[in-house]
Amino acid sequence: MSLDLVMSMMEIPGKSGKERQIAEFIVAKLKKSGVPESAIQFDNAHKKSHIGGEIGNLIVKLPGTVRGPRRLLMAHMDTVPLCVGAKPSRDGDVIRSRDPRTALGGDDRAGAAVILQTWLTIAKQGLPHPPLTLFWPIQEEVGLVGARYVSAAKLGKPQLCFNWDGGAPNVAVVGATGDDHLEIEVHGLASHAGAHPEDGVSAAVIASRAIAQLHEEGWHGLVVKGKNRGTSNIGVLQGGEATNVVLDSLRIRAEARSHDPAFRGKIVAAITKAFQAAAKQVKNAAGQCGKVTVDVRHKYESFRIDEQEPVVQSALAAIAATGLEPLTRISNGGLDANWMTAHGFPTVTLGCGQSGIHTVKEELSIPQYERACEIALLLATGKH
Ligand SMILES: [Zn+2]
Repeated sequence: MSLDLVMSMMEIPGKSGKERQIAEFIVAKLKKSGVPESAIQFDNAHKKSHIGGEIGNLIVKLPGTVRGPRRLLMAHMDTVPLCVGAKPSRDGDVIRSRDPRTALGGDDRAGAAVILQTWLTIAKQGLPHPPLTLFWPIQEEVGLVGARYVSAAKLGKPQLCFNWDGGAPNVAVVGATGDDHLEIEVHGLASHAGAHPEDGVSAAVIASRAIAQLHEEGWHGLVVKGKNRGTSNIGVLQGGEATNVVLDSLRIRAEARSHDPAFRGKIVAAITKAFQAAAKQVKNAAGQCGKVTVDVRHKYESFRIDEQEPVVQSALAAIAATGLEPLTRISNGGLDANWMTAHGFPTVTLGCGQSGIHTVKEELSIPQYERACEIALLLATGKH
């Protein structure tokens, strides 16, 4: 199999929001293979994105040549900024960037290439296939934006959905965690730190008490309460400009994750309660307190697909048919599949040989990429 396609796709710059060039490349190849213009559409997902963007999701809806449930194959088009300028180059069994300052962009151009290669093989060899939707979402790396805001009606009600992203080709990810984002504003009272410190209420003291309590009671970091598990992290603390002013304002950004939505809610509640309690405990000489506001934004919901579901069984059978040992896994990070599942399309995510993603050490394993293409072809042609 030629590696030209995946090499050219990894070379094209296209960080999140700048997907026009890679989308045009894919569209040109599709048209050349005989896909009619009318089957190719873009939605307006970028118009709902917090970063804007050049272009929406690329969705290609194709009729089947044989009957069967519609199958959807997807992989995100964007890369992290570190991949811009990558010079893919083959070194034995792997592809790396010749420029040591860039990542490779195998995440997720290798996935995007798996989908395109699969279709080009079907078209060239005239292979029979069920109805297919090919879906290349935008802006995965900045918060699963394309999958979140996809015009779901344009996908044609697919019943078996497969996503290719980072990782090994034999691992089927059948579930992933959910994530909540917290914006915490801590307001104290400013005063001169030398002349009248007792008139101030320090936002630093309020936040410290809250964070120390969360740490002591096991609500920060890895959170384990009985059978429930999750994680939380105070990731950003910002505030203050001078040492001679009692710190009156702190902006804190935190997250809470758990596969169990109810337990994730408990972590969020524990964080909120700790900050609100701390705000009441810290007083100035006149007995005044500061205050805390907590704004919770739901980033994505967790999901878990039963292993007996046809989409999982198909994926595992296709993996086994290529001679690999099929494995299932649950992810502790979010995937486009979280939003696909939330839209009513439970989606299994497979890898295509990328490792060291988001770093300058990123590589693509050629044998693993080739296996991923074989697996995708089996799934797209309805063999499994
Ligand atoms: Zn990715």
